[in-house]
Amino acid sequence: MKVYQIPVLSNNYVFLLHDAEANTAAVVDPAISEPVFQMLKELGAKLVAIFNTHHHSDHVGGNRMLVEHFPDAIVYGGVEDRGRIPEQQVFLQDGDRVSFANRTAEVFFVPGHTRAHIAYYFPPVISGEMGDLFCGDTLFSGGCGRLFEGTPTQMVASLTKLRNLPDSTYVWCAHEYTLNNLQFDLTVDRNNPDLQQRFAEVKQMRDRHEATIPANLGMEKRTNPFLRWDAPELQTTTQSANAIQTFARLRGMKDHF
Ligand code: ZN
Ligand code: FE
Repeated sequence: MKVYQIPVLSNNYVFLLHDAEANTAAVVDPAISEPVFQMLKELGAKLVAIFNTHHHSDHVGGNRMLVEHFPDAIVYGGVEDRGRIPEQQVFLQDGDRVSFANRTAEVFFVPGHTRAHIAYYFPPVISGEMGDLFCGDTLFSGGCGRLFEGTPTQMVASLTKLRNLPDSTYVWCAHEYTLNNLQFDLTVDRNNPDLQQRFAEVKQMRDRHEATIPANLGMEKRTNPFLRWDAPELQTTTQSANAIQTFARLRGMKDHF
């Protein structure tokens, strides 16, 4: 399974998964359809699946057109998103599994950004190699999604599921927000050497107009304050007494950054 990353709209990524042997493809969160059609044409591949993480239009906007052209494509989404994702056929719950190419993904229910958000985790084929996490707007590099339909308690539980995955995991998040996120992160965790280094690298990458996605989950665990609610230095910075409060205050500060 090869992952192609298609930048669309102002800062979204659509991910196209290609099975070269079967010449089939799946797409994660198609915000729009045109660039997906174009890449399918280039690859000569048939679309067989759409994996949606949540119902926002910048994640499902291409569903209808894609299904119109590929009526056999199966549209997956979270069970709580019933009625909100166009063309949805499969209603996934925490712990469900979905297959593509030679890989099987585990589904995580990760409410917080929306009340129905799910993530797809493909473990590595050979243990020790990189796994692939498609987490939509739940976890970003250096940040996390805004809490539109969920609480800090829910989001910490959701992010805990993702934080428990192996360090050697590619984080395929749906937005290129990394530089702005890291600028905020430095205001709350400025003495973190891993964060300082990550910022310097990302700054250079963005100066060269390069994508900072996929990120690396091991790196995120060391640098992303929204995965570090239990770090004593962040609890001090936010003057909070527990992990949920730390997370909630960080999220509130970022909302006004
Ligand atoms: Zn969203
Ligand atoms: Fe989004």
